[in-house]
Amino acid sequence: MDTQEIKNRLYDLGADLCGVASLDRFSEAPEGYHPLDVLPTCKSVIVFAIRFVAGTLACNTAVPYTVVRNILSDKMDKMAVQFCIDMEKEGILAIPTRTNGSEYDEKTGRSRGIVSAKHAAQAAGLGTIGRHSLLITPEYGSLVWLSVILTELELDADSLKESVCNDCNLCVEVCPVNALESADVNQKACWDYAFGEVRNDWRISCHKCRDICPFLLGSKNMILKRDITHMNVTQSHCS
Ligand code: SF4
Ligand code: SF4
Repeated sequence: MDTQEIKNRLYDLGADLCGVASLDRFSEAPEGYHPLDVLPTCKSVIVFAIRFVAGTLACNTAVPYTVVRNILSDKMDKMAVQFCIDMEKEGILAIPTRTNGSEYDEKTGRSRGIVSAKHAAQAAGLGTIGRHSLLITPEYGSLVWLSVILTELELDADSLKESVCNDCNLCVEVCPVNALESADVNQKACWDYAFGEVRNDWRISCHKCRDICPFLLGSKNMILKRDITHMNVTQSHCS
């Protein structure tokens, strides 16, 4: 089975973007969070993306954005599991890594996915990570959700994209809690603000750094392109 067949399977399951990364592109992964730390026999990393509903950014409430995030996360986990089951039926080991959610890394005091989805997506040629720490894709800007699958199958890797972030600093300046001041996002400051200090509030009440970026939208986000001048990107901190 080659890279294109893998992608076709994920497109058939509903993916909008798909790419493959080789393991040599994970040399900077934190200890314990390298694909080989998760699956010691891993040979390739598959990343797929689904477009986010861009219209949620034009709302006066955080509810649609949060609902889309939760539904996509669940849907992509199911897609990844189905893909891995189908691969196993053909004798190929592949595992999902969870679309949303994180583990607490005691060494660094940060929470992170068992394999960083945005770094894996960049390594798989889906896009590049901007100063705001989000993946920017040509097709959907930063409005994509990502899921990572590890496999023992040795696949040809996709080409890497050129970075598009122009260091305009708009995302840094718009952050209400200065969470983007240093190269490493201040995760606690961001999460306390965006989710509230009590994490059981399921609403995501801040995505200002995403909204303000000139690369928020990609070539396929036509609806917001039509109305972009009317979009109030400063109102995203709402309940
Ligand atoms: S989501 Fe909000 S709080 Fe978090 S980094 Fe972006 S602007 Fe700052
Ligand atoms: S707002 Fe500017 S600095 Fe921030 S990610 Fe976008 S292009 Fe880069």
